[in-house]
Amino acid sequence: MKTVIVTGSSNGIGKQIALEFAENNYNIIINYNKSKTQAFALDKKIKKLGSNSIVIKADVSKLSEAQNLIDLSLKEFGKIDILVNNAGISLQKIFQDVSESEWQNLFAVNIGSVFNCCSCALKDMISRKSGKIINISSIVGINGNAGQANYASAKAGIIGMTKSVAKELASRNVTANAIAPGFIATDMTASMPEKAREAAIASIPMKRAGQVDDIANTALFLASDEAGYITGEVIRVDGGMGT
Ligand code: NAD
Repeated sequence: MKTVIVTGSSNGIGKQIALEFAENNYNIIINYNKSKTQAFALDKKIKKLGSNSIVIKADVSKLSEAQNLIDLSLKEFGKIDILVNNAGISLQKIFQDVSESEWQNLFAVNIGSVFNCCSCALKDMISRKSGKIINISSIVGINGNAGQANYASAKAGIIGMTKSVAKELASRNVTANAIAPGFIATDMTASMPEKAREAAIASIPMKRAGQVDDIANTALFLASDEAGYITGEVIRVDGGMGT
């Protein structure tokens, strides 16, 4: 049975990814930082589906906590087949208003966490010559967005990291790919100012927000054997928003 770690999986896109992998017989490592109740509710739901899961608290923006997440996952399940770097935060602020601490904190969470979890998990993947990394970027990391320079920079960085790691690890049979969601209905987008939300939906050729399972389905595909020859790819899941 394969094992997947999904960072920031107590709610939103990460929760749906965890659920879909559970429905497809993966062992699930649920990671949360603050949402303990939601994380354990998801654990209960996954166990009801008949899959194995554990909950691990870790602020993945910190290397020592990411290391602990990987160590405890290996202790429980013996290997890490898939790492989904999903944890993230957003910031809506024009560039001149972003403070140094906001800039650095968003970077630590959105891209530092990807470095932390990848660098800790890769040892196991490389030694077994098997593994798949799936990073959740954003369409904003490809196209940019007014009011999101901070977020866009981190999400663009994830794409550069994904493509570089893919090239470094292809010979070890470890793939790295990114998903670039457009506008997906979650707490993150619900917290946007109403006008910004309406403008975002109006800019989508399909004229509707994406759903969490649109992203989860893509992650499940990238984790599958059928996607074994895909690496260094960025898949937009955005209803045409970034076209
Ligand atoms: P969300 O806020 O519902 O979920 C984000 C999760 O990350 C939460 O569970 C949160 O607690 C967790 N998290 C935050 N900081 C953490 C930390 N330091 N350590 C561990 N967990 C942490 O948002 P979402 O919309 O589900 O977003 C999931 C991912 O998808 C994010 O990376 C986000 O940037 C990306 N994304 C979302 C959209 C969208 O439209 N919703 C679009 C593009 C990209």
